[in-house]
Amino acid sequence: MKRNSAYMQITRKCNNNCVFCSNPSFDQEINLEDIKKRLEYYNEKGITEIVFSGGEPTESPYLLEALTLAKRLNIKPKIITNGVNLGDLEYVKSLRNNGLNHVHISLHSHIEKDSDRLTTKKGHYKKTIKGIMNCIDLEMVVNINTTINSVNIPYLSDFIGFIIKEYPQIKHFVFNNLDPGDADKNLRSKAWENKWVIAKLIDMDLELFKTMRLLQSHDKTFRIERVPLCYMNGFEHFATETRRLIKDESYKCIFIEKEKDDLYVEFKNISLGRHKGTVCNSCFLKDICAGMSKEYFQLFGDNEIFAVFKSPDLIINRIKNGN
Ligand code: SF4
Repeated sequence: MKRNSAYMQITRKCNNNCVFCSNPSFDQEINLEDIKKRLEYYNEKGITEIVFSGGEPTESPYLLEALTLAKRLNIKPKIITNGVNLGDLEYVKSLRNNGLNHVHISLHSHIEKDSDRLTTKKGHYKKTIKGIMNCIDLEMVVNINTTINSVNIPYLSDFIGFIIKEYPQIKHFVFNNLDPGDADKNLRSKAWENKWVIAKLIDMDLELFKTMRLLQSHDKTFRIERVPLCYMNGFEHFATETRRLIKDESYKCIFIEKEKDDLYVEFKNISLGRHKGTVCNSCFLKDICAGMSKEYFQLFGDNEIFAVFKSPDLIINRIKNGN
């Protein structure tokens, strides 16, 4: 069955200031009336699951009402959050009471100084960890969202091993290789100005493999975005873009734009805006691989990608059969 979820930015304010933020914050948010209009728009489009994002959605004064409105339309609400405000147990209870049962919490390291360096907010690691524990205590579904970056890549498997050990209730992980482009078609990702934080593909090879193997051995599910298939040997069916290509999925987003009208986008062909190298022409996986980001290619070239000579059939079957 095709996913029918959509994303909606409800604020661009954020209490973190991550060095790689792909949707840089500014002081703008939408009011309750606009949230309602957008939810009704999505409802007419048959959306059954809405992910409130930002900025940081818990910085919006309207989040509680937004959750209630979504539930009233029979749209399941989720949030993508840095988890900092979830350190307040009473606030988490109010989210829960307003219908929120599923959170994606972004955490990029289990080492406090590294985490706070990446978010540039001292003390926020502890708050995010408290937020994770609060959600687990209230029996909410918690997923972990992690960027792959130059700081965490040397110990990515240890980091994920820590989460698996400390929070066995967490079953699903999402990894995003950094986006140096302009996700909202307006502001460029901060990774572009902080290029030091972008991990090279060649440097993520071993740790990514160890991490994927670790997750699989613990029966966890996971998705990996913006990593070409030549760096996912044996785990290609966990690549977000490949799954979308094979399942012919699109996803919808509404962005709050700085000094412009809000942007309604449907991402249909995720290969658009990506780069393929000459080697891709002879690669057996070229039809199910999205390649690399154009901005990564601009920065580092495409010498790191290499043709893969194995049949895509097993990967396609695994995805179609829901593995
Ligand atoms: S060589 Fe190109 S098509 Fe093949 S897996 Fe790598 S990036 Fe994808």
